[in-house]
Amino acid sequence: MRADLIVCGLGPAGRAVAHRALAAGRPVTVIDSRPDRVWTPTYAAWADELPAWLDPTVIAATVEAPTAWALREHRIERTYQVFDTAALQRSLTLDGARVLADTAIEVGQDVVTTASGLRCTGQVVDARGLARAPERAEQTAYGVIVDRAALEPGQPVLFMDWRRDNGAGPDEPPSFLYAVPLGPGTLLFEETCLAGRPALTPAVLRARLTQRLRARGITLTGTEPVERVRFPVQGGRSGGGRFGAAGALTHPATGYSVAASLSAADTVAAGNTLWTTQARAVLALRRAGLRALLALAPAEVPVFFDAFFALPARHQRAYLSGHDLAGTTAAMRAVFAAVPPRLRRTVATSVLGLTGR
Ligand SMILES: Cc1cc2nc3c(=O)[nH]c(=O)nc-3n(C[C@H](O)[C@H](O)[C@H](O)COP(=O)(O)OP(=O)(O)OC[C@H]3O[C@@H](n4cnc5c(N)ncnc54)[C@H](O)[C@@H]3O)c2cc1C
Repeated sequence: MRADLIVCGLGPAGRAVAHRALAAGRPVTVIDSRPDRVWTPTYAAWADELPAWLDPTVIAATVEAPTAWALREHRIERTYQVFDTAALQRSLTLDGARVLADTAIEVGQDVVTTASGLRCTGQVVDARGLARAPERAEQTAYGVIVDRAALEPGQPVLFMDWRRDNGAGPDEPPSFLYAVPLGPGTLLFEETCLAGRPALTPAVLRARLTQRLRARGITLTGTEPVERVRFPVQGGRSGGGRFGAAGALTHPATGYSVAASLSAADTVAAGNTLWTTQARAVLALRRAGLRALLALAPAEVPVFFDAFFALPARHQRAYLSGHDLAGTTAAMRAVFAAVPPRLRRTVATSVLGLTGR
């Protein structure tokens, strides 16, 4: 069976590229084991990362300047947006695509073989996501969705809050609170282990979240809807037709990939590569940044993020989004210069690959 573009995997990455290829008039075949799977995670992104073509009604909440707490409070001068996940999925229409509910068994750059015995040829985009594996650091989180009516007004929007009012001991791996609106009526409070190998368990995160919220005057009833997060932040390979998490678009320091996939969809749908020499160098630097993060002692983590969130917004943006090599290097140098000497040694040795995993 010959197709023009074959997209394996209908997560945010595959669906975005299929949608944009269809919009550009390319015949598209999509293959997913469960093409009708409804996405349920709460996705969010920085507003400046999102492509102009995205339907604005997919945004459920916009925060002009979220807060980060490390050793002190930082105002992040960057607009943050939370998706209406169902609306995002619906907006990435697949009208006109041939949709195969099948499992891709062998995926090459121009041929796919499926479990049902189909052999499809054409330009292949492999967006099958990333499987969990013991050698891959993971992000885990435990969140609850709370009605605003049950809360005091004026709850802060917290991109990351590393304060220790969650009951974690000084030598235990830290976790942070993520607190964002899901719309006008609800807030998500999520205790998050940014990256761990192994990552903190849901039970630990749940206990920390309960304690932290209680310390802030919020008592959970136990009936709140729950969101559980667990996915690899390491792995994925650039190039070779891979895209999304499979294609190394997961940011190693945040776990985010959805906005990167949306904004790169047109490039990939047009058959072009994302992976310039500069983009590969940025990926290598960010992976080194994750090695440093994994090597930090628990008490050093907030020190590191304090230096990061003190950076000008343009440095933060360069490190977190896109593939700006000069900006990424400048951000890393600025953090390095700002942290104390002991932490600098840890960062230097892990960035250079002398220690760390
Ligand atoms: C609760 C939660 C909250 C999150 N929050 C955010 C966030 O705020 N921002 C953000 O950017 N990221 C967030 N993430 C991470 C995000 O989910 C992933 O980065 C994203 O889903 C990766 O998209 P993807 O399309 O590359 O892969 P996936 O979403 O993993 O999709 C892969 C698709 O491929 C299909 N597939 C797999 N193998 C095969 C096969 N052999 N044959 C056919 N089909 C196959 C699967 O069925 C699936 O549909 C969150 C994750 C969770 C769990």
